[in-house]
Amino acid sequence: MSKKIMFATAKLKGEKERNIYCKDLDREDYDSKYKNHLTCINGCKAKIKFTQRKNNIKFFSTWNKEGKLHDKGCPYYVEYKGSKGREKLNAYYKNIELDDETIFNRLKNQYYKINKSYEGNELPSPQQGSRKVEQRGENNVDTFIDLDEGEKNYNSSNIRHKDANFVTQDDLGSRLSVYGKLHSVENGVNKDGTRYAYLNFKTENTSVNILFSEAFYSNEYANGINEFERFIENIKELVKNKEKDVIAIAYGEITKKKKRNTGVNVSVTNPKRILINNMSYKKILTLS
Ligand SMILES: [Zn+2]
Repeated sequence: MSKKIMFATAKLKGEKERNIYCKDLDREDYDSKYKNHLTCINGCKAKIKFTQRKNNIKFFSTWNKEGKLHDKGCPYYVEYKGSKGREKLNAYYKNIELDDETIFNRLKNQYYKINKSYEGNELPSPQQGSRKVEQRGENNVDTFIDLDEGEKNYNSSNIRHKDANFVTQDDLGSRLSVYGKLHSVENGVNKDGTRYAYLNFKTENTSVNILFSEAFYSNEYANGINEFERFIENIKELVKNKEKDVIAIAYGEITKKKKRNTGVNVSVTNPKRILINNMSYKKILTLS
């Protein structure tokens, strides 16, 4: 039995590509419309099928024998089942260490794209049915591996961008650039005196947070605890102002939340791996 998957991408003729949550489908819809047209949420070629059991449990899974059609960095790749698989996935990401400037530039490029798509959502599109409006159109933003010009043959430079709404515990161990609108900010002091902060994304299913811990403020791009606290307070001020959405994009390993069974963190280890409303760490510090 292959792994149960929550989300898939639908590519229907004459319609814009979009992501679907398994619970929003039923067997009739699937058989008449979606069968053969669902692929992996992470942009892989692998086809996805839908199952609805008699007890109304619904899930997606990889089409028989297509496990190898997932990209090597995708958690649904055939070899990544179980804990051994997770280790392999981790090893895969360790192989594609990128320098901080490259990461920062990728985040800026992606920010530009998502910001355009969020703005675009305000306008009604004649091609959008009611279902798409419900989905807020955010799904069209690429979750696949994003290659910059001139680097098409250079696999080791890939960064996978993913909308926070589609990040799940299946992504544990992956290194992703995760983006979305912020809902709230929490911060505090650990027992050992180190500081932490969470930026919580607005999501519909899995709770997804950006996590900053000691590594974030103890490195060459930052100047310690006081500066970090000011950075966090300035983000809080931005989020408090409800008139405008605060958009964040962060790159890091997807880790498990300590105190909860569900939900994941994007663990960000230095200031070059985060942009908020298109502002860098340094720029955010100038807000107060
Ligand atoms: Zn895949």
